[in-house]
Amino acid sequence: MPAVVIDGKEAARKKLEEAAAGAAALKKRGLVPCLAVILAGDNPASLSYVAGKEKALAEAGMESRNFRFPGEISEERILALIAELNADRSVHGILVQRPLPGHIREDRIIAALDPAKDVDGFHPLSVGNMILGRRAFLPCTPRGVLTLLKEMKIPTGGAHAVVVGRSNIVGRPLANLLASREINATVTVCHTGSGDLGRYTREADILIAAAGAPGLITAPMVKAGAAVIDVGVNRLPDGSAKKGYRLTGDVDFHGVVERASFITPVPGGVGPMTVAMLLLNLLEAAAENAGS
Ligand code: NAP
Repeated sequence: MPAVVIDGKEAARKKLEEAAAGAAALKKRGLVPCLAVILAGDNPASLSYVAGKEKALAEAGMESRNFRFPGEISEERILALIAELNADRSVHGILVQRPLPGHIREDRIIAALDPAKDVDGFHPLSVGNMILGRRAFLPCTPRGVLTLLKEMKIPTGGAHAVVVGRSNIVGRPLANLLASREINATVTVCHTGSGDLGRYTREADILIAAAGAPGLITAPMVKAGAAVIDVGVNRLPDGSAKKGYRLTGDVDFHGVVERASFITPVPGGVGPMTVAMLLLNLLEAAAENAGS
């Protein structure tokens, strides 16, 4: 039997409704959750991600303030803006869209954020608190993946989760959260030094692909009945597509759908959840600000 295809759009819609309801409740107390979005340069994927986030914020009754800069913007100018936004009580969250232009040190920018406004969960204090199991904004994509697993009632306790990818924004935090007491999975992390990837992925009850390598995970690499979550978003040139490219994940969907029990599509899987989680993080930041 083919896998259940997880509808990330529908799951995200429910979470966006929650966020909108939360925003409406705060509005009654005179507070509108507000996200400052900083974008430097004109990376087409970044522009499209930012537009998607702004649209979702508006639809949920939240505010966004946009700070768009040419790619040549100096690090000091961005740091000065962050200092202003940190001090601005009407701004509850600050998002710095990645990737930043090469001359800007991302570490320095992220470390300058007030951790109370770090709704992306990338600040070293947020990461440290997350690892220690303390309250922290969880990075949006990992939180989105965990929420999808929960919504689909995919058992995690005692499951073997294999995460392909160890980036600071997806693989590393996700592996850490999966191994937490609450989620209780046993975790293997794979990367480019892992050698024969299939040796590990075939052991996975839950397989999470976050490598940015189109079609990396094929059916023979998947255990029958595994839940497969495809985080990868890869743009492949496609002359027949209107935009000249198509989006594809890290998983060979057509092969793996015949072998897995659950699978997320790309697009329409993890992506929409990432945006929904950002709104929930912002809502929490704003509620905190209101002292609730
Ligand atoms: P990244 O920083 O490039 O990290 C990729 C990770 O995957 C690295 O740890 C790398 O290993 C590993 N890797 C790459 N190729 C591999 C291979 N052939 N075999 C084994 N491991 C491999 O990427 P990222 O920022 O984590 O993003 C990963 C993917 O998720 C991208 O496609 C990105 O567009 C997508 N993404 C999607 C969302 C969403 O909302 N859906 C959000 C964020 C990212 P090394 O450490 O050894 O280099």
